[in-house]
Amino acid sequence: MFGLGIVKGLGITLKHFVNTFVDDLKYFPGGSATSQEAFARRQGPGPGPGLFTVEYPEMKLKIPENYRFVPFLVTEYDVPPDATDYVLDEAKAANRCTSCGICAKVCPPQCIWIVRTNDPKTGKPIPQPAEFYIDTDICMNCGYCAEFCPFDAIKMDHDFEIADYNREVDHIHNLERLLKPVSYYAKIRPTWYAQEQEARRREAEEKKRKEEEKKRKLAEKAAAKAAAAKAAGSSQAAAKPAGGKRSPEEIKAQREAMMAKRAAKKAAQESGAAPEAEAKPAKPKRTPEEIKAQREAMMKKRAERQAKADSQSE
Ligand code: SF4
Ligand code: SF4
Repeated sequence: MFGLGIVKGLGITLKHFVNTFVDDLKYFPGGSATSQEAFARRQGPGPGPGLFTVEYPEMKLKIPENYRFVPFLVTEYDVPPDATDYVLDEAKAANRCTSCGICAKVCPPQCIWIVRTNDPKTGKPIPQPAEFYIDTDICMNCGYCAEFCPFDAIKMDHDFEIADYNREVDHIHNLERLLKPVSYYAKIRPTWYAQEQEARRREAEEKKRKEEEKKRKLAEKAAAKAAAAKAAGSSQAAAKPAGGKRSPEEIKAQREAMMAKRAAKKAAQESGAAPEAEAKPAKPKRTPEEIKAQREAMMKKRAERQAKADSQSE
């Protein structure tokens, strides 16, 4: 029949309209028809009773974890900004941001401004932003700043209810407005937060392991050095003629030889090569004439010594 479809459609609308109030009654007393429970039932996969639409602002859609709105800065000062004991200076001091400027550089519409802190006495930069601004009218919520920050200091927010009547001033978020405690970040992005904490824990463990390894190697080196010094001392004592004192030249020569030996050993260890067996200086080859002359000189010396000894005994 002509017009029957319209009547049927209006009937369905009327049914939902009436069912909204009937369903609302189920939450009274003690419950709320705009609670998350009611919201889940009406918006759920089944044939939800009553209104399908979201009754904003009483009802709000659940925001997925990866949702991103304008960025905020993470501070380790774990007090909510609206708390009575909140101290802004402490929040600034515990700010994770080091004012490295990477976020400002990668921001496509260039809506981040950072002023670095300088030491008033030395003029040297301090890794803390003195000022930090984000123009939220220009920000396109791309999330590049959060992605590139090496210190997990800037994150994308879930708070989209930031409309106001003073766009010249209030839409430019300053440091005071941007700072939010780390617990807030953990609440809105629990998976990301857990992953970052795990990565930090692993990094700290690796750092500790490397430090311990370094310490152990240094101790081993020191022990080897001490053992070598001890061995050198005992060999010197053994080489020393009984009761005879060494001349300063002998001591100097011995010390120089020892130092050269140690340097060669160290160089071999550092280059990773197997320690060479006693590097002996290559002797130049003597000619037969030289050998003969040397032997004659030696024989002559011996004969002189013998003659001297004979004359003393007589
Ligand atoms: S990249 Fe991170 S640490 Fe660097 S200035 Fe931006 S927020 Fe701060
Ligand atoms: S979200 Fe994108 S546009 Fe907004 S401040 Fe970060 S980098 Fe810039």
